[in-house]
Amino acid sequence: MPKITPVRHLIVVLGDQLNLDSSAFKGFDPKRDCVWMAEVHEESTHIWSSKQRIALFISAMRHFAKELEKAKVPLHYSTLEDSDNTQSLDRELLRAIKTLKPQALLMTAPGDWRVLEKLKGIAKQTNIPLEIREDDYFFSTVREFAQHSKGRKQIRLEYWYRELRKKHNILMEDNQPIGGEWNYDHDNRSAFGKEGPPPIPEPLRFKADEITKDVIQLVNTRFADHPGELAPTLEGFGWPVRRADALLVLSDFMKNRLPLYGQFQDAMWTNEAWLFHAHIASALNLKLLSAQEVVDAAQTEFIKGRAPIAAVEGFIRQILGWREYVRGIYWTQMPGYLERNALSANTPLPAFFWTGKTSMNCLEQTITQSLRTGYAHHIQRLMVTGLYTLLLGVQPKEVHAWYLSMYVDAVEWVELPNVIGMSQFADGGLMASKPYVASGKYIDRMSNYCKTCIYKPDQAHGKDACPMTTLYWDFLMRHESSMGKNPRMVMQVRNLKRMSEEAKQAINAQAKEHRKALISK
Ligand SMILES: Cc1cc2nc3c(=O)[nH]c(=O)nc-3n(C[C@H](O)[C@H](O)[C@H](O)COP(=O)(O)OP(=O)(O)OC[C@H]3O[C@@H](n4cnc5c(N)ncnc54)[C@H](O)[C@@H]3O)c2cc1C
Ligand code: SF4
Repeated sequence: MPKITPVRHLIVVLGDQLNLDSSAFKGFDPKRDCVWMAEVHEESTHIWSSKQRIALFISAMRHFAKELEKAKVPLHYSTLEDSDNTQSLDRELLRAIKTLKPQALLMTAPGDWRVLEKLKGIAKQTNIPLEIREDDYFFSTVREFAQHSKGRKQIRLEYWYRELRKKHNILMEDNQPIGGEWNYDHDNRSAFGKEGPPPIPEPLRFKADEITKDVIQLVNTRFADHPGELAPTLEGFGWPVRRADALLVLSDFMKNRLPLYGQFQDAMWTNEAWLFHAHIASALNLKLLSAQEVVDAAQTEFIKGRAPIAAVEGFIRQILGWREYVRGIYWTQMPGYLERNALSANTPLPAFFWTGKTSMNCLEQTITQSLRTGYAHHIQRLMVTGLYTLLLGVQPKEVHAWYLSMYVDAVEWVELPNVIGMSQFADGGLMASKPYVASGKYIDRMSNYCKTCIYKPDQAHGKDACPMTTLYWDFLMRHESSMGKNPRMVMQVRNLKRMSEEAKQAINAQAKEHRKALISK
């Protein structure tokens, strides 16, 4: 690193801020400013981060450092192996401050509350001003979201999404949604049916270069007891770790998957991890891609007539709608959001979540795939693993720690609202108008998992009963009074009321047996 005295701005770049055109670099002067980056043990151990997730972050950081070097940007970088690395973000920053003596710290808004608090603490302790700039890789600001949600008891995606569509003129014509409708969900959500999926395009995976190979070896040695699998093969780790590769994944999706994305967005299939999804969440969250360029690319596919409106709108809603919405929820609800537990769920997370060893085929498929690839698509997360923990009544914070650990795209601002709000209903309905609860019959409809399972999805009790179905009715019984007050749960509660007392008792006993078996494992 060239010596710079004195340093004017120390630019703090975190592992999920890997873009050279970020707001933190505006006005950067290589003669007076310096970038700070640090790999630290603590960021992979404050939750038991999976090997794939750790490798992705470190490899992407090292590739970004190389880019900075090429651009002749002065950089202070601590690697995990540095002998004097203190292995915590705040202590490493303190160490750099002592050496470089910057006049100010400057950064783009971080994604995690915890990290923001740490950095503010350092600024206070050292009496150095900390300037935090907007992250313009999003469409909206947290302030705009706060303004939108002011005075609302429930904050629904749909209105926020429409507001952003209008404001950014996306899929709009004469101030009206193109095609006349805001939402094409009714055309999406098909299952693959008996015949199975149409030909699935090979996913674009990247061969590990020397940097990634070194990182894989480092992670496999240093974090050997962490969950998941990691190997320098296409299956073992093939994620984009550079912007150039992320752009290739994006264009591959636009060309080969987007037309069928909407239709099969919710479908699942045995041994098929990738299906018609985009696999870009990790690149978006590391800021290798911007939300704007992803949405623009999808809109272009519609304008050029290469993808139908239902697919394009369905995809854009995920990025412009859900992604911006969960970020707003996170920053307006933290820090209390982490503690929410509206359903008083207190069961520990079953041990098989870390191994995939279970007789329930849907869970075995989803968990082993997650451990192998660091990936599961939305419905696997929401309606298999998330559904099971919700029905079982697992402590939401434990569920959160599992999701944050497991996925390569897991960063707290997006993971937490998806888990606490959408999946576990732990915020009592702030985010979702009803809990996403269903019996095994839903999984049977949307996948072929049940076909080879030892359980029968339509049976709630008895020796072949599907645990999802048993726990679904058990959940309704346990929460009958609160669910009965939710207009969107009326049908489900009415069906429960029609059930005979004997059936209810049998389900109750079966659910108890299931819980007991989990404890004894
Ligand atoms: C319990 C649970 C936990 C989740 N944890 C994360 C997480 O840690 N990180 C993460 O990025 N997403 C998370 N999601 C959202 C979603 O499942 C993933 O973004 C998606 O599966 C990533 O795969 P993909 O890139 O192939 O997505 P696609 O299905 O192809 O969707 C395209 C993009 O839309 C965005 N998106 C889709 N759904 C959501 C959503 N609900 N919230 C925010 N963005 C969304 C993502 O950026 C995604 O890359 C979670 C969902 C659930 C139900
Ligand atoms: S029968 Fe039940 S446990 Fe088995 S795969 Fe289907 S939903 Fe899952």
